[in-house]
Amino acid sequence: MSDVPTKILLDESEIPTQWYNVAADLPSPMPPPLGPEGKPVGPDALAAIFPPALIEQEVSTERWVPIPEAVREVYRLWRPTPLYRARRLEQALGTPARIYYKYEGASPAGSHKPNTAVAQAWYNREAGIRRLTTETGAGQWGSALALAGQLFGLDVRVYMVRVSYEQKPFRRSMIETWGAEVLPSPTDLTEAGRKVRAESPDSPGSLGIAISEAVEEAASRKDTNYALGSVLNHVLLHQTVIGLEARRQLERVGEYPDMVFAPCGGGSNFGGIAFPFFADKAAGREVRLVAVEPESCPTLTRGRYAYDFGDTVGLTPLLPMYTLGHDFVPPGIHAGGLRYHGDAPLVCHLYKEGLLEAVAVPQVATFEAGVLFARTEGIIPAPESNHAIRAVVDEALRCKALGEPKVLLFNLSGHGHFDMAAYDRYFNGELEDFAYPEEAIEAALDRLPRVAAG
Ligand SMILES: *Cc1c(COP(=O)(O)O)cnc(C)c1O
Repeated sequence: MSDVPTKILLDESEIPTQWYNVAADLPSPMPPPLGPEGKPVGPDALAAIFPPALIEQEVSTERWVPIPEAVREVYRLWRPTPLYRARRLEQALGTPARIYYKYEGASPAGSHKPNTAVAQAWYNREAGIRRLTTETGAGQWGSALALAGQLFGLDVRVYMVRVSYEQKPFRRSMIETWGAEVLPSPTDLTEAGRKVRAESPDSPGSLGIAISEAVEEAASRKDTNYALGSVLNHVLLHQTVIGLEARRQLERVGEYPDMVFAPCGGGSNFGGIAFPFFADKAAGREVRLVAVEPESCPTLTRGRYAYDFGDTVGLTPLLPMYTLGHDFVPPGIHAGGLRYHGDAPLVCHLYKEGLLEAVAVPQVATFEAGVLFARTEGIIPAPESNHAIRAVVDEALRCKALGEPKVLLFNLSGHGHFDMAAYDRYFNGELEDFAYPEEAIEAALDRLPRVAAG
């Protein structure tokens, strides 16, 4: 196999011209989102905060959705991203498996998130919107949307969870460098923020509070919309450029994966790389698609399939998904992007139908795999990405034990250059594995809204 190049590159002209919509290939219809009274919410309910084109994509069952030329033009700044053959990692493991990874850390913001940020910014501008609000935890999504807003001339305001704002100043600096405004949440600019501050003046903030602030502002201003970085159907749709490119890159070297892996927080990069291969699976081809989640926030592997709120506070419509309960607070692991209580309804639906797989991995083992990866392949992965690497390493070792030369593909969703403090803690032996917090999850599941799902 030494005739296979290390880095499989596509030409800019080979950036996909259409996104793949997995909703066209579902084995059974998706249950709809529900309003507070348990009745399906129509697309109109979203019109206060999303532009018509994105609402249309949210409910579309068309298999292919054209990518606007202006969006492809921006994608050219970093797309197509490279697909690498991880030959040095394979050698270090002594595995007969062939390991490939798609590198989404090649984007300016260092993760896959700009793939959808750019599309969302463009559709909003086309709809006459001038400002976007959003929330961010550690700052990956906030920085991606700041970049996208800058490229299309939209003002962006990011409500950043206060504790991250104070502890992770460099993502905040990136957001400002790309011309967006970033505020520590809770603020006193919104009803939601003022309420929290009145009750606890020193509140460290939370993603739930930041979402409430961003949505409240977007809903109350005609020139302002809201943008979400994961979970929703249109976000997963935009991310399918990852898998569409990867499939073509593998085809170029005569390969097809036996298994595809990605870290799974809200499900957008997993859906992004896995869904185009799901299209082949739906057409009868054999391929295993594996979502990798933290053992401390085991949404798919230990959660319940139910209708639950998308946010902590209970402002969003009820979504049909695997959930740990909307007010479940996972332990403070370093993969901040994987601490979400639910998962994308599309991922959950296919998982429930037995068409996707999921594994949960403990934190320390993910850093062990990430450091092995950095020392063999060179790239220092984001802590989120280390989850996929752990699962791939485990599978490659299984292949070694069984003498199976499987082809394994994973999404390297981002680099870890802003997460070096977490690596320091790993090297100092300060990282912990958090036992599966069974009691906390049971308690949170007891507080699910009382609506039956599937
Ligand atoms: C946000 C993020 C994730 C998790 O989000 P998904 O929606 O599940 O993709 C994973 N990796 C990186 C690098 C991220 O920034």
